[in-house]
Amino acid sequence: MGRIFARFLSRSATKSALKDSIECLELGWKGVGFGIWDWNILTNEMTFSDRFKTLLGYAPGELPQHYEQWVKRLHPDDKQQTLSALQTHLKHRKQYNIEYRMLTKSGQWRWFHTTGQAAWDKKGNATRMVGSLADITERKHNERERELIMEKLLESNTELERFAYVASHDMQEPIRMVTNFSEIICKDYNSLLDEEGKECLRLIADSGKRMHSIIDDLLDYSRIGNEDNHMISCDGENVLEGALENLCGLITSHNAQISYDPFPPIYGNPVQIMRLIQNLVANGIKYQPSGNRPHIHIGFMNQPEQWCISIRDNGIGINEKFIEQIFQPFRRLHAWEQYEGTGLGLSICKKIVENHGGRIWATSAPGEGSLFYFTLCKPQPKQLEAA
Ligand code: ADP
Repeated sequence: MGRIFARFLSRSATKSALKDSIECLELGWKGVGFGIWDWNILTNEMTFSDRFKTLLGYAPGELPQHYEQWVKRLHPDDKQQTLSALQTHLKHRKQYNIEYRMLTKSGQWRWFHTTGQAAWDKKGNATRMVGSLADITERKHNERERELIMEKLLESNTELERFAYVASHDMQEPIRMVTNFSEIICKDYNSLLDEEGKECLRLIADSGKRMHSIIDDLLDYSRIGNEDNHMISCDGENVLEGALENLCGLITSHNAQISYDPFPPIYGNPVQIMRLIQNLVANGIKYQPSGNRPHIHIGFMNQPEQWCISIRDNGIGINEKFIEQIFQPFRRLHAWEQYEGTGLGLSICKKIVENHGGRIWATSAPGEGSLFYFTLCKPQPKQLEAA
């Protein structure tokens, strides 16, 4: 648009030619609804096109043609920024492209987008400036509405997380009592119970254990992004090996075979990333047909914008139509009796990845194993230096 103004400025010399040119310029932009302004910087005379005036609610003959008419209509909160952008354009020839509010004839504030281009004499003094004006009030209102919705959503999410944290924290103690006392009864009073009593007690102990895992996972879920969110540059291989070490018991008990690609340095929260890898590898080991030896490969791909990490297993696989749902909290595709779990592992993974600005997804088919992917930002050279 600047180029159009520049061409216009170099062509229109006389006053009548100027008026014709403004009309011509406006005619050209009629379809898109822009108004035109033309400011003589030496006299402060400012020509507003008819469309410009209508945008402010004035009839073509109204609104005196003066720079001050424009300045005095600027919203007090936008005035300083608008005038200094104008000065920067005149002095340093930086692009003049700005949004501000102006008062209309009916006393309403409306949002406008303006761009303009000055002309300078041989000594480098700005002599004239021409620009366009578009009403963007509706867009601004929509943006504000979206912002408000996002703020409310964030607020309610934070509240929900706080609630989940407090509730799970407070539930830990009574659940611990249930499991501890059922263990005591089982040990010390076992001989007093008949078979039915023992079965009932086993069910109580199992449910307590299950509740305990759910509460632990809920606490972890609500902690991500709130507690210890410190991001650093760290050795990816250390993080990966840490995750595998934590899974040592599970790997040994299932005789799982684990392989992995060389890992690069990563930037993030090492504890969270360790947890992420751990959850995905543990699922790969857990969701296997009985008697199958788990084979897990942790792959690494260097993509132009990011690192992409994959975890492949040779397990039971997942039906494609459920693949999006498994990242939702408490969404399980199997009964507890079949495969133990809380249904929170993958939602914890998703939260960790999103907390790092990445994405997580999976591809799978029943009986063909699963392949989970997640992306991480590459560490910037500065972050690597700081490590
Ligand atoms: P959990 O394992 O505690 O149930 P997750 O959130 O980790 O919870 O997983 C959600 C569901 O997704 C699981 O119940 C399971 O049905 C399915 N799932 C997750 N990972 C795999 C996998 N590697 N192979 C097959 N199914 C999986």
